[in-house]
Amino acid sequence: MTNVAPFPPLEIPETLAAGPGPGNTDARVLASFANAGLADHMQADVLRGMIECKEMLRAVWGTQNTYTYGVGGTGFSGLDCLFSAILPGDTVVAFVNGTFSGIDGLTIRMKAASREDLRANPMDPRPANVTIVTVPHGQSVSAEVIDRALAEAKPKWAFMAHWETGSGRINDLQGFSAACARHGVLGLVDAVSSLGIEDFSIDNYPGVAGWASCPQKGVLCLPLTYAPVSFTDRYIDEVRANGCHTYVHHPILEARHWGIVDGQDVAAGSYHRTHSGYAVAAFHEALRILLQHGRAEKARDYAHHERALRDAVTAMGCEVTSNMTSLVVLNLPPALAGREKELVQACRARGFGIWPTLSEPVQVRVGILNQLSQAAITEIVTRFAAALNEMGAGLDLDEVTQGLERHYREPMAAE
Ligand SMILES: *Cc1c(COP(=O)(O)O)cnc(C)c1O
Repeated sequence: MTNVAPFPPLEIPETLAAGPGPGNTDARVLASFANAGLADHMQADVLRGMIECKEMLRAVWGTQNTYTYGVGGTGFSGLDCLFSAILPGDTVVAFVNGTFSGIDGLTIRMKAASREDLRANPMDPRPANVTIVTVPHGQSVSAEVIDRALAEAKPKWAFMAHWETGSGRINDLQGFSAACARHGVLGLVDAVSSLGIEDFSIDNYPGVAGWASCPQKGVLCLPLTYAPVSFTDRYIDEVRANGCHTYVHHPILEARHWGIVDGQDVAAGSYHRTHSGYAVAAFHEALRILLQHGRAEKARDYAHHERALRDAVTAMGCEVTSNMTSLVVLNLPPALAGREKELVQACRARGFGIWPTLSEPVQVRVGILNQLSQAAITEIVTRFAAALNEMGAGLDLDEVTQGLERHYREPMAAE
């Protein structure tokens, strides 16, 4: 056995999280986490907090679905729960237009694979019953592409990401839901990046049977707390009839701790696994903040500030290829092309947390989660412009900030 000397205490600095997520956590959420008392997962106020979170989540998702709750973990934990109804041999069509829908497609291939499919390619199975429809990076998944693929394959399940954070593209949710309904397909949607940013109600998309999101993007709770999910009765019937290969992420069993038993709300949850009073307190506060802000108001604020950031980086010579309102994905000015990773590393080294794309082509991603003020956007824009100048862009910083001020003075003209 090797001896490891005790390390000094871990200190993590404060940074400006200006990427796709996590966002800068609200001080109220951090305070709720830190101020929660020591209590076990069956203590009355922890259980009450989970019931209240469940009710607030229904408002956030815009749904009457009884099976609406949080899955402990990250976004992919909620997605794993969502995909758990897909069993080996099931037919699925999955639309992929970036990093995250690509990983979702891999998860789906793993779930739908037979033992032979897994043995043939254990880390990247390719079951013939799963069709992956690839849409090029930088483009959205359109209603036409969805309808054509579903009409041809007539699968049991279909999957799409609502907002693909890898390329910053919004996909056609209305088109997806309508095509699923038309072809009798059960739709599954990754709403990790859109929930809490866009103003939408999932009950308006009846072709979609299951939804999953994450703690730390639009919902702005801490990572590794709760990934919101919501399932229609149709989805739950499917799991009730056929079962699934998981205890932890079982869509029906996991709901019990949130006070959902046999399709009914009950007064208090029952043990499923050890939930954290700290996580429940933080999640509860994040949902309260979201509902106090108001879904519609918040969506308008994001659109307003994204527009300001987009115009500012465009004025610097960058080309924006995204259409999400929480994130700008851009190509650098031609003279700096190819130096994206160098730029991102230089910024990150100074606590300015922007991101490259995680799959090809290499682009730069600048996000505005919880940065909904002129001051915050100005900070992001000036730090970004200064970093470009260090690479020789030769931008006039006064001109950049004046352009931004003009944008905020004349919002109507700019929008
Ligand atoms: C961030 C993201 C994920 C993954 O979420 P984690 O919390 O990192 O597990 C999945 N899908 C989309 C669309 C995302 O933006």
